[in-house]
Amino acid sequence: MNSKSPTDPAPAGADPEQRVFEPEHLRHWSFQGTSLAVLGHPVRHSISPAMHNAALARMARTDPRFHKWCYFKFDIPPDQLPEVLPLFHQHRFRGINLTIPHKTEVLPLLSQIDPDARRMGAVNTLVWTPDGYEGYNTDGYGLSTATAEEPGFPLSSGPVILLGAGGAARAAAVQCLLNSCPELWLGNRNPERLDSLYRDLVTIRKPPTRLETFGLKDLPHDLPGRALIVNATSLGLSPEDPAPVDLASLRGDYSVYDMIYPGPGRPETALLREARRLGFPAAHGLSMLIHQGARSLEIWSGGSVSVDAMRQAAERALAVPEGKKRRG
Ligand code: NAP
Repeated sequence: MNSKSPTDPAPAGADPEQRVFEPEHLRHWSFQGTSLAVLGHPVRHSISPAMHNAALARMARTDPRFHKWCYFKFDIPPDQLPEVLPLFHQHRFRGINLTIPHKTEVLPLLSQIDPDARRMGAVNTLVWTPDGYEGYNTDGYGLSTATAEEPGFPLSSGPVILLGAGGAARAAAVQCLLNSCPELWLGNRNPERLDSLYRDLVTIRKPPTRLETFGLKDLPHDLPGRALIVNATSLGLSPEDPAPVDLASLRGDYSVYDMIYPGPGRPETALLREARRLGFPAAHGLSMLIHQGARSLEIWSGGSVSVDAMRQAAERALAVPEGKKRRG
């Protein structure tokens, strides 16, 4: 891996999975292979380089072209994105992933936006073209593939109760509609944000999806009794956070997917602990991260990507304890 580091300015031996690059490094970028990167602020915690470089190493076994591909991480403050994105393009970064806070701010900087990504109002995947970057969103695909796998609840197979109305919830909600989920119940703390999401979804809803909203502190009595509950709030990122809803009080038979995944200093969320106590099928968000990453790499490479290689690298990078590797 070290031989893949940019010769200048990266010091010899720099590990692209650990090293955080900054805008200044881009001005002298001299990596001779095909560069990929994740841009965020902060980005130090990102395990995307570990996942993607593991998948690339697997692909290189059968296609030597991928020996010269490498994925880096860049800390890009939001106010610098308009200035540095053209530099990534100039240095022919073939693919870019975007994480907080760039997924929406990048929209006016793109040459084209995939229609589904436009509906989601955010992109997480950029593809180099001669005219500029094209934007895609693979978060919705990641969620849809993940929930079908574990807890075994495809978004099309029953009602979805989606908690949150931020960026991740918006992508998830649009994906539910794209997958023709029969009922979508949206719950959020802030009613204005919830209303704004609802109004956007109404314009793209295809019948027969039923669309309902509720406040997290005011759960409706007619919530479906069998549904997939998806946590897309940030409640659970801190170990002391409570669950966004009290599962026991809902008195239903639920499957639960929490977009938040455990990692160093971050145990599984209260929502997942409660789901398992109640015997509900449940899973955490690492599978979503892995599937969105695999889809991005498929788009960039046109090749088939080993989800297993990505999963193993992600679990190693997070040191997910045995027995909790896939289930939440
Ligand atoms: P965001 O745009 O900042 O939205 C945050 C959401 O959390 C909003 O709905 C907000 O509600 C809600 N929230 C925050 N604090 C709350 C509290 N104390 N009580 C109730 N609700 C609260 O963030 P995002 O980008 O959508 O991300 C949301 C979560 O999804 C994060 O935890 C992120 O790590 C995770 N995520 C995971 C993946 C994955 O691949 N697994 C991908 C994307 C995101 P208000 O509107 O009321 O403020």
